[in-house]
Amino acid sequence: MQEKGNISIHTENIFPIIKKFLYSDHEIFLRELVSNAVDATRKMQKLASMGEFSGEVGALKVQVMFDAEAKTITISDNGLGMTSEEIKKYINQIAFSGATEFVEKYKEKGDEKQIIGHFGLGFYSAFMVAATVEIHTLSYQEGAQSARWECDGSTSFEITPGSRTERGTDIILHIAEDSEEFLQKNRLQEILNKYCKFLPVAVFFEEEQVNNTAPLWTKSPSELKDEDYLAFYKELYPFSEDPLFWIHLNVDYPFELTGVLYFPKLKKDLELQKNKIQLYSRQVFITDEVKDVVPEFLMLLHGVIDSPDIPLNVSRSFLQADGNVKKINAHITKKVADKLGELFKNDRPSYESKWNDVGVFVKYGMLSDDKFYEKAKDFCLLKNTEDQYFTLEEYKEKVAPLQTDKDNKVVMLYTTDPGKQNTYIESLKKRSYDVLAFDTVIDNHFVGMLEQKLENIALKRVDSEVADKIIEKEEKIDSVLSEEQQNAVKALFEQTINDKNKTVLVQALPTYELPVTVTLPEFMRRMRDMNGMGGGMAMFGNMPEMLNVVVNANHALIQKIVDAKEDVEKQSLAKQVYDLGLLSHNMLSGADLTAFINRSVAMIGKN
Ligand code: ADP
Ligand code: MG
Repeated sequence: MQEKGNISIHTENIFPIIKKFLYSDHEIFLRELVSNAVDATRKMQKLASMGEFSGEVGALKVQVMFDAEAKTITISDNGLGMTSEEIKKYINQIAFSGATEFVEKYKEKGDEKQIIGHFGLGFYSAFMVAATVEIHTLSYQEGAQSARWECDGSTSFEITPGSRTERGTDIILHIAEDSEEFLQKNRLQEILNKYCKFLPVAVFFEEEQVNNTAPLWTKSPSELKDEDYLAFYKELYPFSEDPLFWIHLNVDYPFELTGVLYFPKLKKDLELQKNKIQLYSRQVFITDEVKDVVPEFLMLLHGVIDSPDIPLNVSRSFLQADGNVKKINAHITKKVADKLGELFKNDRPSYESKWNDVGVFVKYGMLSDDKFYEKAKDFCLLKNTEDQYFTLEEYKEKVAPLQTDKDNKVVMLYTTDPGKQNTYIESLKKRSYDVLAFDTVIDNHFVGMLEQKLENIALKRVDSEVADKIIEKEEKIDSVLSEEQQNAVKALFEQTINDKNKTVLVQALPTYELPVTVTLPEFMRRMRDMNGMGGGMAMFGNMPEMLNVVVNANHALIQKIVDAKEDVEKQSLAKQVYDLGLLSHNMLSGADLTAFINRSVAMIGKN
């Protein structure tokens, strides 16, 4: 008995559409067919466990084979099989109204890349690579007849009695000429390795099993040891360094989500480390572009997320608006915050030792997510130049006694480069001030945020003012120079420097301070930083660096300049101490530096 018919689809011919629109993703045909085979075996198992099948279930498995000469790829399973009635129902009637409408709608928009799967078109993805597809199947049902279905990609098909003698299904693809790349062993292996590595039923490619049916994230955390997590990390990323720690996700309400997220040791090139999280749906690999599912600030994490609740087959904009995705996002953020808080509480030394890596996530998270900020403010650490770590609260308490200014603000001092800003740091340490090290990329923004969020706190970079003035106190030091002398010194330096972007200030400072200190006022620097980042400050144009040149009225050398008889001598001394000031700000270079060195040599030689 042979039956011919038409696949009931209202669109004249769906296959050209499938083929055209799924162009970039042809390889997923194998994922679709193998996961159908896996589904069939699991349904078999389920039937047996419910007592609806009393025969021998046997070892369930899926087999993938290819024959380069015959140009076929075959996917076989010993799952529940289909009767010819079921073939008609499940395979032929693909054009239930939803799918047709969907295809119609999206073929204009050019945004239809992932129609397949979403509307149960999974099986038809076979036609992306095959000219003809055969199904040979025998249902588990008692007395079932085996059936054979064949279709050449037009809308007509034929069903005939089949020859399969054992329960299960073979899908035979007769590969089209333009898809012969899929008849290579390496290519098939690569695809299976990408999509099928963790499928829950044994999948064989030729003689070898390609999958681990019980990947780590499907197990209960209580039965797993650290070694297991580390081994799984190596399985996912064979050449990577061990991760710092990990989080096992396990939610079943209000959405289903399992997975393991690892905190990697960060490398210089952050971009390279993005998109390492793999997204699965019931152990079938979907994508490693997890944007929108994982909060932006956690994109640098590694690992696996598995959720049947993520709508995988729709466009990005839809994904962003999806309620489940938002909840998943929030859940991951919360889990990460909880884990970090726990690590901080339970083993602070180890947490501190990881801060260099973890800090980037924490700061980024605090900047981008208010909810995360609220949790993280208790375990976000500040590191000082002595490599000691403090929470925000602890640090405020530590520095308040010495570093509170006359307006009752606690002034936190920081360096962005302990090496280059050493002179300033040393000056501050003489006063027993503490200096924080803010030397990662993100700290620039982090400083601004802290100032906004923390009350009664000011943050100043060590070179923003001379040490004596950086934290303003009530008490004032008397000037050794008269006002007239001070004015003369100011004029002399202005003439020597001759640069309208540098402001000369003569101040009474302790005698042990340098004769001249060059400072970059905090306000000006932040303006420039923002300008540089294009942060809507473009009205300032290309801002020059506005520096202060602070002359210490009480320094013996300045006294010597005042006392000098010849103008030439005054000028050369002024030039020399000014250059010294520039030097300690790393601003002396090229011809100026050479001239400075030559003058110094000559001066030393004189005495
Ligand atoms: P989905 O998998 O989303 O249901 P598919 O187009 O991939 O959609 O498959 C359609 C239907 O065809 C399946 O739901 C199943 O009933 C049937 N089917 C496909 N492949 C097999 C198979 N190997 N064994 C048994 N039934 C199958
Ligand atoms: Mg399917």
